[in-house]
Formats: sequence, structure tokens, C-alpha cells
Amino acid sequence: MATCVRAALVCWGLCLLIQVPVHLFCGGNSSFRSLRSSRAAVVTFDLDDTLWPVVEVVEEANQQIARAYDLPADQVMGAMRRLRREPVGESASYTSLRCMAYAELLGGDEATAEEIVKAWVAARNRAGALHLYPDVVPCLEGLASSGAMVGAITNGAGNPSDIPPLADFFHFCVSAEEDTIFPHRKPSPVIFEEALARARALGWSGKTEWWHVGDDLATDVAAASRVGMRTVHVDRPGQTENRFSVSSKEELAARQAGADSEPDLQVSTLKGLAERIAS
Ligand SMILES: [Mg+2]
Repeated sequence: MATCVRAALVCWGLCLLIQVPVHLFCGGNSSFRSLRSSRAAVVTFDLDDTLWPVVEVVEEANQQIARAYDLPADQVMGAMRRLRREPVGESASYTSLRCMAYAELLGGDEATAEEIVKAWVAARNRAGALHLYPDVVPCLEGLASSGAMVGAITNGAGNPSDIPPLADFFHFCVSAEEDTIFPHRKPSPVIFEEALARARALGWSGKTEWWHVGDDLATDVAAASRVGMRTVHVDRPGQTENRFSVSSKEELAARQAGADSEPDLQVSTLKGLAERIAS
């Protein structure tokens, strides 16, 4: 009997020895998947028009807010576009511009405008889950099996951590709408460098390949390759043009400048991407 107790204690001790480094490596955050191989790649995704069609997602969020707060979507979009052309909105983040538009339509009620912005972001994330392209989750499952660290680098307000079908697959998300990142939207190297820093903080050695996947040749392909990442351009057939865009003149010019960039991989679907990256 004493031998069994000693054996159990030895086993328990060995388990502790194995588990402690894993816990440290994961930063103790159980919501993130651990990296299973030090040789695994880091793969970051653009979100809008890469994981879901942004027009459908924004339209659905706009309609939900219109119904809940009696704010017609066309009036909100009209106010956002007009404010973008004025000095006050010329270089504002999308979130600030939206907040200004709501406040204006509410007769200057900024507190309610901020509350509605939060509701809009939540509605946008819910719509993202509903409109996910069907190849997204299988692709993320493949990357998880390969042990890759997965992140998001976005200029928009979507966040996979708040989207149930995606949350478990993503280790980090960097958005240009964050106070510490804005106004450094893609294609600025600043947002990509922040992603590199967050991956390092989560245990990335810096010695494995980094792939960035996105639909935009300038803000994803050209910008990511400038900071040394390998790139995947996703060109889905029948992609609708973003009629809700309230991009600034500088952003449109930057996109134009990178419109003829060459990716390392060109795909029309995320199906099989994990295998192609690994090969
Ligand atoms: Mg995109």
C-alpha cells in the first residue's frame, strides 16, 4: 500500500513538473490555445472581407441599431461621410466618427452616443459570427492542429475574441481603432510591429515564419511584406465593393499606392491554407 502511495506521489510530482512550464508559457490565460511546437508559424488575418463580407456585417449592425434606437442607417452614414470631409472628422478613427454622427443626430447627447457605439460594435461582432465565410473555421482548425499562433490585424472594430466561433482560435487581436494604435492603420508598419510585440509577449521566439492573410493588396500584402512577413492574398470571387467605407483621403491614397503588390501566395479560398503554409 505504501508503495502505491509513493508511486502516486511521484506521478503527481512529475505531472506538476510538466504542467508548470506550460502554464508559464501560456501566461496563465486559459482562453488562449498554447503553441504546441516551437517551429510552428504565426499566422495573422485581416478580418473584414477576409473572414466575413464587411458589407453584410455592417449592414446588419446598422439595421439593428436603427431598430433599437430609432436612428435610420442612411442618416448615420450620411452624417459620417459629411463629418469625414470636415476638419473635426478628417483624421478621426471610425469609432470616433460614428460617435460624432450619433451625437449629432441625438442633438449633442454624447453619453447616449457612446452607449450606442458600444451596442453597434457588439452587433457588428454578432453579425461577423453569422456571416463567417464557410472556409474560415476549417482553416483555423487546420492551423490549430499545426500548432500555429493565430492573430488578427485589423483596421476595423471587429474582434475575434468577442465572436464565439472564433474566440478559441485566436491568441491576439490588434486593431487600429485601439487608442494606443490609432492613427497607425494598415498599411502603417506600426500596427504590424505591435502585432510582432504581442506575439513575442505570448511566447513567439521570432525564429519561425510569420504569414499575414488578407484581401487587400496594399494594406495587407504590401504592408506586411515591408515588415518581413510572408503574405497570402485572398481574392474571393464575387466580393462586393464596400459601400459603407468612410476611409480618409490618406488611406485611399495608400491603398492606391500598393495596389500592384505581389503576394507569396494567391488564393480564392482559405480551404487548405494550413497545409499550403506548412509545405
Ligand atoms: Mg479586408
